[in-house]
Amino acid sequence: MKKIYGNDELLGTLNAMVQSGRTAQSVIFYGETGSGRFSAATYYTAQLMCQSPVEGAPCGCCTACRTVMSLSHPDVTLVPTSGKLGGYSVETARAVCSDAFVKPNNRSGRKVYIFRNCRNMDVRTQNTLLKLIEEPPEYALFLFTAESKYEFLPTIISRCVCFGLSLCTEEESRLALREEGYGEEEIEQAVSCFHGNVGMCSQYIMDERLRRLVDLTKALSESIIRKDEYGLNCAFYSVGSDRESVRNVLSMTDKLFRDAAVLAKDSSARTISCCPDSAARLSQMISAYQAARIHYKLEKAWDAVQHNVSVPLVLAGLCAEMMEIVC
Ligand SMILES: [Zn+2]
Repeated sequence: MKKIYGNDELLGTLNAMVQSGRTAQSVIFYGETGSGRFSAATYYTAQLMCQSPVEGAPCGCCTACRTVMSLSHPDVTLVPTSGKLGGYSVETARAVCSDAFVKPNNRSGRKVYIFRNCRNMDVRTQNTLLKLIEEPPEYALFLFTAESKYEFLPTIISRCVCFGLSLCTEEESRLALREEGYGEEEIEQAVSCFHGNVGMCSQYIMDERLRRLVDLTKALSESIIRKDEYGLNCAFYSVGSDRESVRNVLSMTDKLFRDAAVLAKDSSARTISCCPDSAARLSQMISAYQAARIHYKLEKAWDAVQHNVSVPLVLAGLCAEMMEIVC
């Protein structure tokens, strides 16, 4: 079983829960992208399916564990997303509702449905699932992963046990990446950008596109420091229209301004952004209030992108707003 770093307390709670036989049927694993929420959901699933668990923990070797990890277990469903925004449709929720009443045929006698990356899950979809979560068949479990538990309706949250994933320390991050077999140099580069976020560090090493987005975020921060609106526009334009790329750049930019605000108060504070040098220079030129206003604008921009507003339009507007705030 792949080790999950930095979340010993959570794993301990899950082990104790399984050992005592009081397993939660609906669970939300939340945390930032790359923090290991899907790994935690897979771990919990393996715990439930494992043929010979050790003190509540999955053995990692039996057929059940191996098929859970390779997502090929016949009674574990990774619920499919649909549409341009990759959401969960009402039709999908209805299909899960009827499938959940078909009894499982594995030794553990359980069925698990995993809803991965629930971003702004449609209210109608949530209401369709609510009935099922309120009165689920005793063998069925529903696991959700999301950035925040508040992506869900209060009625759903109240029916779920919610677990937050913590980020690792940089040292734990290095250990996890070494275990994946990466080289020291690439590990250092990745950790300097994504610190204790193992998932993002690993993606940074593997995915050239993410490395390009980090470079774009650095270019973007340089343009802001130079108060160069044209440069900022060009950097945003180069991000393209792919929503995942936009989300990454907005999130990295948000962390940059968060660091700038923190460094303004304490220049030795721990940073979380991919370009701490730029954050340090920004901290000399903007106030915490300006950083907070930019944070709000970035959230608003991401919200518009999620609601299908044209990406170039949103980014052009954001660029103008950011310039107005920093100048
Ligand atoms: Zn096992």
